[in-house]
Amino acid sequence: MGEGRSPQERAPGARRLVLLGAPNSGKGTQAAVVAERLGVPAISTGDMLRGAVAAGSELGRRVKGVMDAGGLVDDALMAEVVADRLRQPDARRGFLLDGYPRTLRQAQDCERMLGELGGRLDAVVLLEVPEEALMKRALGRGRADDRAEVVRERLRVYREATEPLVGYYRGRGLLRTVDGDQSIETVTASVLRALEAVRGVA
Ligand code: AMP
Repeated sequence: MGEGRSPQERAPGARRLVLLGAPNSGKGTQAAVVAERLGVPAISTGDMLRGAVAAGSELGRRVKGVMDAGGLVDDALMAEVVADRLRQPDARRGFLLDGYPRTLRQAQDCERMLGELGGRLDAVVLLEVPEEALMKRALGRGRADDRAEVVRERLRVYREATEPLVGYYRGRGLLRTVDGDQSIETVTASVLRALEAVRGVA
């Protein structure tokens, strides 16, 4: 690979993946395990933002209120955060995005930023979990920010803003669907199997 190429125009077999799923679908858990198995970094925007809040950074101060309310951080701000992260050297061989994109606008931003880096997505995996199971998991967990109304708001925002991405990615031939209402190990195996069908990924 010659000098002067963009960081993502790179390593053959690079895997650029998105994990899509409702809040409490097990997305974060699966992202970490699957990314490890594939040897790519799991990039969780939720973790990055929570880190910024915990660190009391400028970014953290900007996003805390909207996160506490279960709303979505502004698309333009998210694009900056994610573009910075994708430019890191560890993302050259690929990545598994967890929690981004979350709106159609973000999906377009994602496409643009990957294009600028000389790549594009290879696959999007959707974890399907029935609504009752999502609520049960959320309330059983008892995190301070998982009060019932915030849980419901997150789910509402998911249905309204994020679910349209399912059709968007299906239309691009990128979508793989997995039953997320199974044991952690079974879901991981299903995700990896779904990715086997994607050339050069698993
Ligand atoms: P998560 O851990 O992915 O559920 O993210 C926790 C919170 O961070 C979300 O409820 C949002 O407030 C915020 N957040 C994370 N990722 C995004 C994103 N792609 N767009 C907007 N807000 C986000």
